[in-house]
Amino acid sequence: MDMIPMEEAIRIVLAHTPSIDLVSVDLMDALGRTLAEDIQSDLNMPPFHKAAMDGYAVVGADIQTASREHPAVLDVVEEIPAGKVPTVPVSSGKAARIMTGAPVPEGADTVVMVEETVTEGDRVKVLEVTEVGRHIAWLGEDVQEGDVVLKAGTLVRPPEIGILAAMGTVRGPVYRQPVVGVVSTGSEIVEPGQVPRAGQIRNSNAYSMMAQVQEIGARACYMGIADDNEAELNRVISQGLDTCDIVLLSGGVSAGVYDLVQVAMRECGVEVLFDRIQMKPGKPLTFGVRGTKLIFGLPGNPVSTVVGLELMVRPALRKMQQMENLHRPVVKGVLDEPFRQTPGRRQYVPAWSEERAGVWHSRWVGHHGSADLFSLSRANSLFVVEADEEFLDAGAGVNVVLLTEW
Ligand code: AMP
Ligand code: MG
Repeated sequence: MDMIPMEEAIRIVLAHTPSIDLVSVDLMDALGRTLAEDIQSDLNMPPFHKAAMDGYAVVGADIQTASREHPAVLDVVEEIPAGKVPTVPVSSGKAARIMTGAPVPEGADTVVMVEETVTEGDRVKVLEVTEVGRHIAWLGEDVQEGDVVLKAGTLVRPPEIGILAAMGTVRGPVYRQPVVGVVSTGSEIVEPGQVPRAGQIRNSNAYSMMAQVQEIGARACYMGIADDNEAELNRVISQGLDTCDIVLLSGGVSAGVYDLVQVAMRECGVEVLFDRIQMKPGKPLTFGVRGTKLIFGLPGNPVSTVVGLELMVRPALRKMQQMENLHRPVVKGVLDEPFRQTPGRRQYVPAWSEERAGVWHSRWVGHHGSADLFSLSRANSLFVVEADEEFLDAGAGVNVVLLTEW
């Protein structure tokens, strides 16, 4: 198969990415998910004319000449704390003592702040003019019954949780979390709890992959380490495709004799759509489909695994969940230091980037290649060097992919 440009690879992946089904979840479980249906208001907000201040509900016309020298003097007919329904209408010459959040009584059209009054027995003196209509939150001024308050496709953040609660939505319609099967391949790989013997390497990829998957809002399902043999790979791939929405494997996709992932994928009925991309790191990234299921074979070097997942898998997982902004934000930046590469593939370089005086500055964090897992811990971004570029001087313009949540 030909090595294909990244844009083409992303296009193929997204063209084969299905939308996931919707589920109804407990309110708090909707956080971070995408709403699958419009939410309509079942009431007016505010549900009644509501006092926005502690003070007195009055007929505004009564107090338009009030001053400290010539206060308006009104009879207090009732006290209305929040939660109480007023029983006495307010007419000219009258006032009701009212608390924030309480319903404004019939007849009143203005609330005077308590700070601008003096209480004397059953009377109140109003010392200042308050504009007619002030300090009342009017029935339905925020939202009216039947209004769509949240549209399908909205990301549920903390304010949306509050809105859902206000709308009486105890269970929210959201897109189901995609289930992502995660497999590490390699006969040399051992679990973190083990001390590696000669020739062995601890499994870091499965864990970084699961962490990335969770960060994207999906559910990681760990399927363990598969040795480099066809039977074992077949078993784990078919189990993954049967039980998950997406399967991610690391390792076993390079050109070595023991790189058997693609062979095993085909044996499991996967249609392999590409197996090499013009990107660095991540060239041998392999992608296939079986029905609506997607399967990615990510290269085993830890930086390649992380970057391949960020750039190729993340958009698919976000699309599945109907999230907006499938890709990480990309900004124009300038290099603080020169950088050189061997031309041939577009390179994503682990970088530290920051905005200074309105300009994004980016610099390579230094790494020993795509096996250097530690370099990513010093990076908050990747700057992009195009395939045909060789020398970039300090000050050269580059695109910078912001790994913002990191
Ligand atoms: P591969 O893509 O299988 O040729 O692996 C490339 C390199 O990545 C080898 O040096 C592996 O030891 C290393 N590697 C593969 N899988 C993992 C893993 N799960 N965790 C850490 N390193 C790995
Ligand atoms: Mg391997």
